[in-house]
Amino acid sequence: MTNTLRQSQLFTKTRKEAPSDEVSKNAQLLIRAGFIHKEMAGVYTLLPLGLRTFNNIVQIIREEMDAIGGQEITMTALQDPKVWKASGRWDDAAVDVWFKTHLHSGDNYHQGSELGIANTHEEPLTQLLKEHISSYKDLPKFIYQFQTKFRNETRAKSGIMRTREFVMKDLYSFNKDEEGFREFYEQCAEAYVRIFERIGLGDKTYRTFASGGSFSKFSDEFQTISDAGEDRIYINDETGTALNREVHTEEVIKDLGWEGVELREEKAIEVGNIFPLGTKFSDAIGLTYKNEKGEKIPVIMGSYGIGPARVMGTVAEILSDEKGLVWPEEIAPFTYHLIMLDHDNEEVHGEAERLFREMESRGMSVLYDDREARAGEKFADADLLGIPKRIIVSEKTLASGEYEVIARATGISSYIHEQELLNE
Ligand code: ATP
Ligand code: MG
Repeated sequence: MTNTLRQSQLFTKTRKEAPSDEVSKNAQLLIRAGFIHKEMAGVYTLLPLGLRTFNNIVQIIREEMDAIGGQEITMTALQDPKVWKASGRWDDAAVDVWFKTHLHSGDNYHQGSELGIANTHEEPLTQLLKEHISSYKDLPKFIYQFQTKFRNETRAKSGIMRTREFVMKDLYSFNKDEEGFREFYEQCAEAYVRIFERIGLGDKTYRTFASGGSFSKFSDEFQTISDAGEDRIYINDETGTALNREVHTEEVIKDLGWEGVELREEKAIEVGNIFPLGTKFSDAIGLTYKNEKGEKIPVIMGSYGIGPARVMGTVAEILSDEKGLVWPEEIAPFTYHLIMLDHDNEEVHGEAERLFREMESRGMSVLYDDREARAGEKFADADLLGIPKRIIVSEKTLASGEYEVIARATGISSYIHEQELLNE
């Protein structure tokens, strides 16, 4: 797989204005830079640069999930209502974001039996595991996927942070006892800390005590501070953790031992969450194992979600500046943005082409602006795209024998010898 791209070949164009109906900053910037395309409200296509960024986020999450024993699968988006009826969640009153469809039946499309379109996967995965888990020797197991969820969200004004069709990393844990479950839960929380650090959101992301909804007394969210956030959290700077406003009660403050601690209120984006599920699904669907004495015991479950596109939108929201996007190196679509200026000068052109091929042959990640365009246009586009390291090849750099390097995040310019650059 090649890790380079000539900008003259890229089919997407940058644009000066975002669509007038787009209110969120992340979607405005990502659309202008040609990372995403808006199909309709709450539904976006990933374009080449957007897909590369998205895939980098996915890969970081995958590595961290594999490191704690996760096994990756892909489940289907079409779902059998039967297993959802068993858990009581087929009802639109229980899950209000359902998209449902029908099988074809003779000549009447609407008369066929109903199917669900995935909004989550606790039920089908619990059902699947009945074929593979029967003894305590089969546990624990940790299974995850990157899979498309469909949710009929009422609010869809946050760009790619809240969409009606989105990929979720959902991991489910299966343990024989509460103790093992707890241990994994903490391991996963630590993996989440590493994920958000690697993605570049570490210093703004807080493990946040939250409500467990209908599953348990509590859950943990990972909340990233941003004015674009839909949630409110109270940060305890002494512990470096936070509390969701939804559970900000005297009782909870007491349970956490936070009495008298000054809390800082912030708006935040929920980038991930981890949830104890107890035996809610294993009881309803009949997922049990036999212990050493041969007794049948329900499996203890947990679920662990992250939305890679919401994470990408969060980075676009909080790390961008007035000129455009600013990607951290680990998730940037490319590491280097090689920019050829003075393309009419054959010597400069030849030098830029040669450097590009050298970088390419070393497997370096390069977007090469080989377009015949004015310097101002190239720089404005480069600022908008937000690739971390800009390398300039021009008459000036040719004369000096060094290339100019500009860091997108700081704007700091420096000079580098070719060999030093190729050794990076
Ligand atoms: P929210 O309260 O924001 O709706 P949720 O509680 O529905 O989130 P989960 O169902 O647990 O979230 O989903 C796990 C993760 O998937 C979330 O932490 C978030 O990163 C992502 N996510 C959830 N809903 C969406 C959406 N509509 N669009 C994009 N990402 C989403
Ligand atoms: Mg939701």
